[in-house]
Amino acid sequence: MRVPTDLSRLPLFDHHCHGVLRDEVDREGFEALISESSRPATVGTTRFDSQVGFQVLANCAPVLGLDPFPTPEVYMARRKELGVEEVSRLLLRAADITTFGIETGHGADLITGPQQMAEAGDAAAHEIVRLERIAEQVAEKAREAGTDAVTYLSDLERTLDARLTTAIGVKSIAAYRIGLDFDAARPERVLVQSHAEAFMRRTGALRLDDPVLIRHLIWLAVDRAQVIQFHIGYGDDDVDLHRCNPLLLTDLLRATRDTGARFTLLHCYPFHREAGYLADVFPHVYFDVGLGINYSGSRSEAVIAESLELAPFGKILFSSDAWGAPELFYLGTFLFRRGLAAALDRFGELDGWPLEQRLRVATMIGYENAARLYGVDDRATES
Ligand SMILES: [Zn+2]
Repeated sequence: MRVPTDLSRLPLFDHHCHGVLRDEVDREGFEALISESSRPATVGTTRFDSQVGFQVLANCAPVLGLDPFPTPEVYMARRKELGVEEVSRLLLRAADITTFGIETGHGADLITGPQQMAEAGDAAAHEIVRLERIAEQVAEKAREAGTDAVTYLSDLERTLDARLTTAIGVKSIAAYRIGLDFDAARPERVLVQSHAEAFMRRTGALRLDDPVLIRHLIWLAVDRAQVIQFHIGYGDDDVDLHRCNPLLLTDLLRATRDTGARFTLLHCYPFHREAGYLADVFPHVYFDVGLGINYSGSRSEAVIAESLELAPFGKILFSSDAWGAPELFYLGTFLFRRGLAAALDRFGELDGWPLEQRLRVATMIGYENAARLYGVDDRATES
């Protein structure tokens, strides 16, 4: 009889995720964490009535000691009773992640950092730095100190290099700030300087949305042969989804294929098939369906199976893209392990993929591809 693929203990390298909230959240705050909208749920509706909301009630409730499908009120009361630290510990331990790649550039003051995540999740944690955030931080300091654009740009490179002595990669949110239909060419130095000057002349908190400076950052990362994570596709309501198709990066990918830089396309939903194509044709392109897994809930099996269509298995990665709610770490891993096992079993049924081949492919996608790409493997040191 055919043996089903058991991935319940599959080692996972969550190569793109964030921290969990330090403080407790109320019902409205929690509903905001399980939605990509920046607005409260439409009057008369709740975020619990969604794929991800049902997943919380079905599969996170038992981790917190409740029967499946409590009411949202009972679930929130249980969260409060356990306290934020215990809720995080229970869900992160249940997620059973071996390695976190933690991107620290978004809401860092609200969430736990890599060290705390490593402790709470009994895992290894490595940092991924957000290019746009570093550029904003260095610009704010330069503006305060009254330095000129040339000094700012050299400070920016120095800061980036310092961060990269420990960080394992960088992330760009060009998708959010300028869309992916930007000019792929490396911007001229004088142009970069004039845009840096204009950027530092702005008042208030600096939000980098200057296409020239964002292109400059991407090329700095390319010059350093970094792993460059790109937000692709689905995200919060800041994003123009029609400008987030990864095919818009084709010129950039073509221009960088022999530089040593590697690109990881994050989430990609609903463009994961386009991402699979790019991962196939460009040796330095990888992708995951991160955020698309949690939010498609019971349908995530289909999304995961679709991610296994064109892309070579050595180019597919795992991420949860969890931010804030520890539930998203648990669900990201639970749904991924389940969906990947289901897809591989189906291939086994259709074409007789042997168990050892199914397990080998699962291990590549769950851990080995990221370990090779980022040059870290924490499996041997796992307790
Ligand atoms: Zn993210």
